[in-house]
Amino acid sequence: MIEDLAVRNMMKNHRLARAISDAAWRQLRTMLEYKAAWHGRDLIVVDRWFPSTRLCSTCGALAQRMPLDVRKWTCSCGSVHDRDVNAARNILAAGLAVTACGDDVRPQRGTSRTGQSSAKQEPPRATKGIPVH
Ligand SMILES: [Zn+2]
Repeated sequence: MIEDLAVRNMMKNHRLARAISDAAWRQLRTMLEYKAAWHGRDLIVVDRWFPSTRLCSTCGALAQRMPLDVRKWTCSCGSVHDRDVNAARNILAAGLAVTACGDDVRPQRGTSRTGQSSAKQEPPRATKGIPVH
């Protein structure tokens, strides 16, 4: 399970561009795609509007948007989250829900290329029913 990140848009942020380019995100995804296909596995791509960062992986509450320099946050339920670990848990849970329900499965080539800006739109409230681990 991976998150569909708008790498091209994020590269426009000069503070992020170097780090993203160093981490070769696009290349990582390409490798995951062909390796998954090679082994007959599905690569589940979670929508970029899924609020993976600010959704509490413990209770499911949605927190306020937070700037990138917030690396740890505390939910109103009392859970303390590492930003990236929490997002990874949410992406895994969302991907597993997709495979379990057969709902909106989007293996790599099904990714929509609408060309819309990814930053403005409110995320869809599709988070109910995602199992909490
Ligand atoms: Zn919570």
